[in-house]
Amino acid sequence: MIKAVRGTRDLLPPDTALWNFVESAARDVFRAYNFQEIRTPIFESTELFARGVGEETDIVSKEMFTWEDRGRAESEKGNSLTLRPENTAGVVRAYIEHKLWDHGLNKLYYIGPQFRRERPQKGRYRQFYQIGAEAIGPASAGSESPARDAEVLEMLATLLDRLGIAGWNLELNSVGCLNDRAAFNDALRKALEPVVGKMCTDCQRRAVTNPLRVFDCKVPADQPIIDTLPRISQFLDEACHTHFEAVKEILTKVGVPFTLNDRLVRGLDYYTRTAFEFTHGALGAQNAILGGGRYDGLSESLGGPAAPGIGFAIGEDRIVMSLQESSTAESMLTKPDVYLAPLGAGMNAQAARLARELRRHDIVVDLGDETFRLKKSFETATKAGAKYILIVGENEVKADAFALKNLATGEQVSVPRADLPNKIRE
Ligand code: AMP
Repeated sequence: MIKAVRGTRDLLPPDTALWNFVESAARDVFRAYNFQEIRTPIFESTELFARGVGEETDIVSKEMFTWEDRGRAESEKGNSLTLRPENTAGVVRAYIEHKLWDHGLNKLYYIGPQFRRERPQKGRYRQFYQIGAEAIGPASAGSESPARDAEVLEMLATLLDRLGIAGWNLELNSVGCLNDRAAFNDALRKALEPVVGKMCTDCQRRAVTNPLRVFDCKVPADQPIIDTLPRISQFLDEACHTHFEAVKEILTKVGVPFTLNDRLVRGLDYYTRTAFEFTHGALGAQNAILGGGRYDGLSESLGGPAAPGIGFAIGEDRIVMSLQESSTAESMLTKPDVYLAPLGAGMNAQAARLARELRRHDIVVDLGDETFRLKKSFETATKAGAKYILIVGENEVKADAFALKNLATGEQVSVPRADLPNKIRE
């Protein structure tokens, strides 16, 4: 038997109803903040992620699904391609490629699968789904303003509340800008020098190539050492400090609670200034339901114009997991309003005609088969969860009135064809 590949999974009904509920709530909320949808390709040039996300990140160094294009044209042969591990780099590439700033498009959202070769476990998959948004644009459009950061965070709080996810926690930090990063990296290297020998091999490498990434380390034995390291918050320059203070002030005034976490640096290199994560207690080890931050230099590092931005990615798998704790997917599933039971030869065509009429009135119709005995039709209708069963037999067709039975109450009435839509909707 061929099974789904490790780390991938089928999303089945009734759970798909929960996924749709999450996605439509996200679309509704994003619309209220004037975000528009973008869909970028599922694979891109490997270079986009190497440059965008950062060579030294876990994602790029260990987790990407990368292959060499066999190519039809000579120019394609040997090109390195990668299944997208995240969507911000793709959105910013598209922003640059289509000069979206010329169209005033500076608030974009996406929903779709991402791919990382991580060790699969509950809440962590190799194909997973993210719902994300990016507010990006020329600084002249206000894209650098702390008001954008606060707006995006407040939008997230609104969405989580709308979804009924209680007990989320917003963890907030500022990772400063390139200015601060140089001084901080120097201080980190100095602090790491005497202790790095006792740390894991990843940290030993990070200490040399990109010391900030030491904060991504999950090895328990390294944590007490990491706790003693200097924090980026001590190195923010005046502008970054003021920016962060303004974000916090707006959040406080609009009533979005947060906690400061100066260890939070996020596992992607493009972040500057505001960095954040929302966590949810009920999820156990994989408790991060979404993460994001500001990425003021990303567009330039991908060859575009200066375009400060801030965005986030929600782990849709984890949102659905936390909803499963409280609500039942079953109750969200669409059930047929009516099951049409054709009775006897030639009745399939009559039932199909009637089904077509009813569906045009937005009635959900499930259709049986003329070879079914009445008992089997009743059983099938009940199993499908239909509200009504409608008998389509020769006598009914002649009279142009049909026996409509409420499967819950057992009540049966004969209803003229023209009255059926109203009667069923009742
Ligand atoms: P990141 O792009 O790493 O900032 O991740 C943003 C969010 O995506 C995380 O907070 C998780 O909720 C979710 N996420 C990241 N990686 C995975 C994965 N392998 N499986 C499921 N969800 C994930």
